[in-house]
Formats: sequence, structure tokens, C-alpha cells
Amino acid sequence: MGQSINQPTTMAFKFFTFSQNNSGGYYVQDGVVDQVVVVEADHADDADSRASAKGLFSYHSCDCCGPRFCGQYDKAKGFRSVKAAVSSSWMQSPSVVVHFKDGRVEKA
Ligand SMILES: [Zn+2]
Repeated sequence: MGQSINQPTTMAFKFFTFSQNNSGGYYVQDGVVDQVVVVEADHADDADSRASAKGLFSYHSCDCCGPRFCGQYDKAKGFRSVKAAVSSSWMQSPSVVVHFKDGRVEKA
């Protein structure tokens, strides 16, 4: 019964943005990741879990440049659409790949 307290109050925001740092001076664009990765998820921690399961946090990172991808540290609320999620990135017109909850992976 108490579990309902921990349920998200809204499912309206469900796309989370992972912007790639060009650690080491290059971007990885291999179909799993691209300059921006958008993950459909229930909430920020779920987005991080899904991103981790896809290997986002395992790509090589240069010590001086920092991690290639960072998690949702700020517990982001997410966005209502892929377009809105992409526009939240610092990158201008990035290449994008989207990971949907049902397992689809699509370029956007
Ligand atoms: Zn470096």
C-alpha cells in the first residue's frame, strides 16, 4: 500500500537527454550512442539505469576531458517530446539517437 507514495505523480515527462562530451577529442557515433542520446524512461533514475544498461557510461573517457556521458545528476524531470529533449542539449543541431522503452532504437 505504501508503495503508491513513491510512484511518480505524472507520466507526462518521459524523455531524458544525455549529451556526449567529446572526451579525448572525438565523438562516438556507433548507432547505440550519438552526439545526443535521448532515453525514454519513467524518471531520472530510471533513465540512468536504462542508459547504463545500454553501456553509455562505459565508453572510453579521457582523464583530462572527463566522462563521455554524465547521469541525470540534477534529477531532471525529463521532457514531453524527443524534440524538446534534444533542444535542451548545449549542442546545436546534434546527431541524435533515441532509445525507447519498448526497445526500439532510432535516429532522430
Ligand atoms: Zn583529454
